[in-house]
Amino acid sequence: MEKVVKIEHVDNRHVSCDGGSGALGHPKVYLEIKKDKNIIDCPYCGKKFVIQDHKSNKQKK
Ligand SMILES: [Zn+2]
Repeated sequence: MEKVVKIEHVDNRHVSCDGGSGALGHPKVYLEIKKDKNIIDCPYCGKKFVIQDHKSNKQKK
């Protein structure tokens, strides 16, 4: 069975996850990305939430 890790980029430290539809679905949970980290993974489905740091997001000119 193939396991695909989903990654979602967010700009808020408070995120929620319900696992989406299908076999990965689970009761909706609210997660908080800690200040000293920029990533958290859902304990239910393993989906990773990565916070976007706008300050360090350098764009091409
Ligand atoms: Zn989840």
